[in-house]
Amino acid sequence: MNEKNNWIKEFNQPLAIAGPCSAESEKQMMEIAERIDKTLVQVFRAGIWKPRTKPNCFEGVGAIGLNWLKKVKDEFGFKIATEVANANHVKLALDYDVDYLWIGARSTVNPFTVQEIAEALRDTEKVVLVKNPVNPDLDLWIGAIERLQGQNIQKLGAIHRGFSTYKKTKYRNNPQWQIALDFMDKMPDVPMICDPSHICGNREGIFEVSQQAYNFEYDGLMIETHNHPDEAWSDAKQQITPERLTEILRKIELRKSDDEDALYHMNLARLRNEIDENDQSILESIAQRMSISNKIGELKKEHNVAVFQPERWKQIRENSVKQGEKLGLSEEFIDKLIRAIHQESIQHQNLIMNKKNHLQSE
Ligand code: PEP
Ligand code: MN
Repeated sequence: MNEKNNWIKEFNQPLAIAGPCSAESEKQMMEIAERIDKTLVQVFRAGIWKPRTKPNCFEGVGAIGLNWLKKVKDEFGFKIATEVANANHVKLALDYDVDYLWIGARSTVNPFTVQEIAEALRDTEKVVLVKNPVNPDLDLWIGAIERLQGQNIQKLGAIHRGFSTYKKTKYRNNPQWQIALDFMDKMPDVPMICDPSHICGNREGIFEVSQQAYNFEYDGLMIETHNHPDEAWSDAKQQITPERLTEILRKIELRKSDDEDALYHMNLARLRNEIDENDQSILESIAQRMSISNKIGELKKEHNVAVFQPERWKQIRENSVKQGEKLGLSEEFIDKLIRAIHQESIQHQNLIMNKKNHLQSE
């Protein structure tokens, strides 16, 4: 097995991969490459073949874009990176001497696809990066790395781009940091790169997510960067200008892991993150409970039933205390908690009643 960061150590600073979501034209690629700070970014990315959720969207310029990527490499000295999703993409990317090939989130979910790509890359000296699968499944992510290792591919890395959720959250793809941290524990020799662009889905959150990644001692970042972000042909909302990228990369604070104090801060950051993720899901569950309660309010109104039902409250309280006991939570605490939640529900239902009464009386 490789020593950690074997290939990534080539850079004496964290790895930064930047460039557009999609290659659009030679002019666009050259302008972005020109404006990116070469002292902060080592690898230029561009999607050539784009996996789009729905048909009839821009699906990438195709092989012609590899010429532009190669030109960026030759003229500006960047290493170059693109996504590959089948054996033919691999062949073309290798023909054009692409340095970093990554497997996209929609491909990592499919073992047949990963196997096909791994076999096409057998024995390669190139760096191969695996994005997390769109669904929160650690084994699928690790399994993809193992398929590549099975084909004697040594220079591997992981990209954390967050996970799909049906419910809208403040993220486009919920980071669920714990999954990436577990990946790092299980595969400590595989460098971890954060992709804040696909996690956030907007420009505003990119600095914060990037800083969080470095607090967890990630090895690098991949950030979508465009000369005219608002006019980008894909993922326009989340792309930033090369100048903004420079600002972000300069502002991020790096943590060093070589002393006890740093280890303490790292462990604290991990645990606080777990707490934050828990608090978020508690609040989301409460909000969901209120929306169910609102529906009950509508039903009660239709059937002319009083909002407060003492029997029902008694039953809710008893059930919760019983459940709480099994979970090691005191009766006093459960009583306060469930009373507060029930009270809020009743207020919601009262509002529904009053609103309708008001309309009826008009
Ligand atoms: C991309 O990097 O442009 C991309 C398509 O990412 P993902 O596979 O994370 O959706
Ligand atoms: Mn994108």
